[in-house]
Amino acid sequence: MSRTDTDNTGAGTGLLAGKTILVTGVITDASIAFHIAKHCQLHGAKVILTAFGRPSLVKAISKRLPERPPVVELDVQSDEDLVALADRVREHTGSLDGVVHSIGFAPPSCLGDPFLDAPWKDVAVALEVSAYSYASLAKAVRPLLNPGASIIGLDFDPRFSMPFYNWMSVAKNALEAVNRYVARELGPDRVRSNLIAAGPIKTLAAKAIAGDALGPGGELDQMQGEWARRAPLGWNVEDPTAVATTAVALLSDLMAATTGTVVYADGGAGTVSFSEQGQ
Ligand code: NAD
Repeated sequence: MSRTDTDNTGAGTGLLAGKTILVTGVITDASIAFHIAKHCQLHGAKVILTAFGRPSLVKAISKRLPERPPVVELDVQSDEDLVALADRVREHTGSLDGVVHSIGFAPPSCLGDPFLDAPWKDVAVALEVSAYSYASLAKAVRPLLNPGASIIGLDFDPRFSMPFYNWMSVAKNALEAVNRYVARELGPDRVRSNLIAAGPIKTLAAKAIAGDALGPGGELDQMQGEWARRAPLGWNVEDPTAVATTAVALLSDLMAATTGTVVYADGGAGTVSFSEQGQ
């Protein structure tokens, strides 16, 4: 067991009792969003999922949650979906207390060398889906948000360059800026906006980023192994629990004075200096 494996998740304490939370980004039961939805339910929240492209698949996966949630369709690149989202959610609830943006995508040309060869049309997709959509989603759900509501998104520490991540890293830098502006605009409505910078977790999106470098001993394995070595608390790429419970904390009323910022759930790897990181 890694030092970050979590036995005590606080489930059953009702931290989110009475709250309704919209969770985007479930595509498999490995999705970070799936684990966030699960822990939201374990803490007493009612959850509504969105599905991109394959609603029947998301509905099938959703049966593995503690309670079966409603599923509404959302493609963040579709203006029609964004305009319809509030009404689709209203079929299941009158208002929202939390929203989880767990969406990311970049075309293959944006992930891996040569960085300079990625065409703008592909970079534009990466930025639209992975960063701009945080603002689109906030705008779409704004009429439903109760005072005290919390919006969260998923970040991957983009302060330094690294293999593969390339234009996704640029998109995550943009996402951090978008988060600050969403927080600034919604703060007067008593709505918070924050990101969680998660350590690496084995999901579909992570595999897409590493592409051919997958497999035992591949570069994705090496990066994930190095993360575990340099994180003061250690890191287990198979265990999204601490990321999900960090989401619960941010969605709860306990973090009522936190907005526009990034909370790291990465085992502490992001705090270790570069000179130590390679050792
Ligand atoms: P995932 O593949 O399970 O989730 C990505 C989700 O994005 C999928 O559900 C997909 O349907 C959705 N999506 C893509 N295009 C969309 C669109 N146009 N409209 C609506 N939804 C769309 O992978 P994940 O790792 O759980 O990724 C979730 C978030 O976590 C992403 O923002 C990712 O960058 C971030 N993140 C992942 C890791 C990691 O190592 N896996 C680490 C830090 C942050």
